[in-house]
Amino acid sequence: QLSKRLELVSLYIQPGARLADIGSDHAYLPCALAQKNLIEWAVAGEVVKGPYNKAKQEVSYRKLENQIEVRFGDGLEVIHSDDRIDTITICGMGGALIRDILQRGINNKILSRKEKLILQPNVGEKTLRTFLMNNHYKIINEEILAENDKIYEIIVAIPTDETIQYSELELTFGPFLLMNSSSIFKLKWSRELEKLLYIKEELKKSKEVDSMKENRLNREINQIMEMIK
Ligand code: SAM
Repeated sequence: QLSKRLELVSLYIQPGARLADIGSDHAYLPCALAQKNLIEWAVAGEVVKGPYNKAKQEVSYRKLENQIEVRFGDGLEVIHSDDRIDTITICGMGGALIRDILQRGINNKILSRKEKLILQPNVGEKTLRTFLMNNHYKIINEEILAENDKIYEIIVAIPTDETIQYSELELTFGPFLLMNSSSIFKLKWSRELEKLLYIKEELKKSKEVDSMKENRLNREINQIMEMIK
């Protein structure tokens, strides 16, 4: 049984996909898909020995060695060109880490620029969207969900030749998420607002004056207030 978060990620993987799940940990996502015959083949990549061993165990316990290969390595370097990967999932990490993994994939020419990306950053969504925009990726869908009192975002992107331009608001809040403005979206940003208001109070109490920081904070606070009103 997949978590609600990974279940939602799985819905964006085309049946018959050749998947690379990077930072796969227990390999639950590729295992669930392979068991339902929803993927042709997958590589599960891990850079840490513990999770790598867990993934190996899970795949062999479920007897899925023919459909899933667990490989040890950093980011996208576990992908070989003859794997013919068409879909990449990178879930449960910070947005900056996901960005760095993708950037290295571009630098090392591992990304063939045909792969669909399904990304689930835990934080740093704006950093990731900015990277996608600057590297000719178009966001084609987004999800926001709550599970175990945490709120998660999912970003689905495909390569494009078009020049992509997102506004500051779209980069911060997500082009699809801000249009839908769901109750979970509002909950996420009201929590964020609370945090920023607390920082503002603390800043007021301290003797240091940093007007740049204060201005930035006020701008962020106003943006969020405008978004959730
Ligand atoms: N993807 C799973 C999920 O969403 O439930 C597991 C998420 S887990 C919190 C993050 C995993 O990413 C860890 O197992 C960690 O070892 C792995 N990881 C972190 N940096 C990585 C990298 N550069 N390459 C491959 N795996 C990485």
